[in-house]
Amino acid sequence: MSFYHEMQRYDLEGFSQLVESRTPRDVERALSRTGTLELEDFAALISESARRQYLKVMAQQAMQLTRRRFGRCVNMYLPLYLSNLCTNKCAYCGFSAFNKFKRVVLSLEEIKEECEAMRRLGYENLLLVAGESERRCGMPYYRQVLPVVKPYASYLQMEVQPLETADYAELKTLGLDAVSVYQETYHPGRYAQMHLGGRKADMRYRLETPDRLGQAGIDKVGLGALLGLYDWRVDLLALALHIRYMRSTYWRTNLSVSFPRIRPAEGGFQPYLPVSDGKLTQLICALRIFDPELDLTISTRESAHFRDAVLPLGITALSAGSSTEPGGYAHRGQYLEQWTVNDDRSVDEVVAVMEKQGFEAVFHNASTTYFKSTAPRTAAS
Ligand code: SF4
Repeated sequence: MSFYHEMQRYDLEGFSQLVESRTPRDVERALSRTGTLELEDFAALISESARRQYLKVMAQQAMQLTRRRFGRCVNMYLPLYLSNLCTNKCAYCGFSAFNKFKRVVLSLEEIKEECEAMRRLGYENLLLVAGESERRCGMPYYRQVLPVVKPYASYLQMEVQPLETADYAELKTLGLDAVSVYQETYHPGRYAQMHLGGRKADMRYRLETPDRLGQAGIDKVGLGALLGLYDWRVDLLALALHIRYMRSTYWRTNLSVSFPRIRPAEGGFQPYLPVSDGKLTQLICALRIFDPELDLTISTRESAHFRDAVLPLGITALSAGSSTEPGGYAHRGQYLEQWTVNDDRSVDEVVAVMEKQGFEAVFHNASTTYFKSTAPRTAAS
């Protein structure tokens, strides 16, 4: 039994209609629930009825729930792109095997240089990112990479190709704490249209990855859909189901959700159904109300203005000063970036705004009470 089997119980084609049919009364019922919210409640919270009449109430409730569970701490993380090599053909990604450009896999020496540069920015919560290439970026590579990175990371996350349960268990012994594996879209037809070649075309294998992570005892699993790929109503309801399933099946596993919206990238892909700033704000509030324990992450894909506005609503993890290019912290401008960073403010600029809003930027492992990094940040950061 896995989430793949759980999904078979639902008709995704009816999800848009379920959201559209929610009335103001349904929204009020969802907002006044004291226990666990049902799928219908979540559908009400992301509906047009909720956006028109209840967004303010939702924002207040989301803020209160977040303060009660997470206080005013926001976990700061930084992605470290290990490679831009990828054998998959995802229609929306600059690293797709379709695109011709100079490919690279960082050497251990280059990775160490990146870690040093990230440490100078103050970061100890690192996210390793790589395209999928079993031959160059498979387990033999990760077995060498983690011991190099771990001394620089009090919390170590990965966002790479889906792996086997035994591989995750082994990486855990090397210091791996968390893994994100975004489903991109939960709709099988759209998934097939967007993933035209490579291992990622196997939707079931990807869908069952969070199960393998739960079985391997990884501390935290990141879920999400790439907003704009398909009808967000379908993907958000399926994501809510996935959260519920993980909570009940792997109750020891912490969960995080990210809200990536498609950004301009090599290949010129255009979103299928764009998600506006107002809609994304509503989705953030709705997810916080749906599950007050979730870590909610927002990356530099989003604009400075938008990130500052949604931070108080429920965001618990944030990146700043990011590069989506392999080697981009030590030697910027050598290789193609995966997508264009939208908020390009420095770490210090972002932290200054957070502090003005009354938030504490946490550069160390947020599960400890140690809030600020002991590593000095350079003036240039
Ligand atoms: S989204 Fe990931 S798997 Fe797909 S082409 Fe880009 S790097 Fe490769």
